[in-house]
Amino acid sequence: MNAVTSPARPLVDTFGRHISYLRISVTDRCDFRCVYCMAEDMTFLPKKDVLSFEEIEAIAGAFIARGVTKIRLTGGEPLVRRDIMELVTTLGGRIGHGLDELTLTTNGSQLRRHAQGLADAGVRRLNVSLDTLDAERFRAITRRGRIADVLDGIDAAQAAGLAIKINMVAMRGVNDDEIEPMMAWAHGRGMGLTLIEGMPLGEVGIDRVDSYLPLRELHDLLARRYTLSKLDKRTGGPARYVHVAETNGVLGFITPMSHNFCESCNRVRLTAAGQLYLCLGQDDQVNLRDALRDGGPAALDAALDHAMLIKPKGHDFVIDRSRPEPALGRHMSVTGG
Ligand code: SAM
Ligand code: SF4
Repeated sequence: MNAVTSPARPLVDTFGRHISYLRISVTDRCDFRCVYCMAEDMTFLPKKDVLSFEEIEAIAGAFIARGVTKIRLTGGEPLVRRDIMELVTTLGGRIGHGLDELTLTTNGSQLRRHAQGLADAGVRRLNVSLDTLDAERFRAITRRGRIADVLDGIDAAQAAGLAIKINMVAMRGVNDDEIEPMMAWAHGRGMGLTLIEGMPLGEVGIDRVDSYLPLRELHDLLARRYTLSKLDKRTGGPARYVHVAETNGVLGFITPMSHNFCESCNRVRLTAAGQLYLCLGQDDQVNLRDALRDGGPAALDAALDHAMLIKPKGHDFVIDRSRPEPALGRHMSVTGG
């Protein structure tokens, strides 16, 4: 039973939405440069600007005290941050003491060496990002990754008992011919597959208009070939899930562009530099690092109250020829997706 069942002052925004889910980008750095996520040349944060583990723990603790029950570590690539398992172990210690779930989104490149440690720390599920099963295509999409490392990491994670969901950014003309093979592969190994629509965040390496693939279209195509039944699995986020009878697996659709999910939004995002973004698609933010460094725990708590006052109603992403520029200047690796 959760030790903190009803916090004294839950985090509720001005639209009545309860915030129960915190995503923490532990680093903006990454060993890949995926074409839809980063530019080839990226300027990363100076070390002094990055939150220390103690600061992340203090901020996570403040959120847990106010009713956050789920934390996801992301990035950049979370597993490239030095000594990351120290943070995972400390946060894992909060599971059952306010926190229900600690999870991670990873590119899988470092998964083999961390899989058992993650399981030992209390992590039960991981999202692994993988857009193709073809080694050369993988290299081209990530600009530098080796697919063998990721597949090996997935083996290790499954051997450690971690449940895995594969996240695949669906891109027209890039990997749209692999959706069915990826589904057969993932479902055949007992893993879910979630398809993601590309979002216009930051200047990157592909033409977003050409590669944009509306998932509604894809869903309808798949529905003609497979028996899809809607699952009532709500995450408070943009994902919708179906069960695929033929492969006996779960297929997810993350459709920020073509579906409005904002009314049920339950999440906020902390960057590696301590800015709390209130919406993936808007610039509204509160600087929790400064609040904590300058004013301590009381200022941090007050900053959370302020954040609830400014959380926007929703995003207004658009991808079309009349607006080819990114909706936001910041890259996905800043807020962690
Ligand atoms: N490095 C880790 C990874 O790749 O899983 C975690 C961070 S990454 C930013 C989180 C997720 O965001 C990945 O699944 C990635 O495919 C997705 N992503 C990155 N840029 C995106 C974009 N512009 N549109 C949609 N998804 C994006
Ligand atoms: Fe790195 Fe993940 Fe962005 Fe790819 S999607 S560049 S792995 S942060």
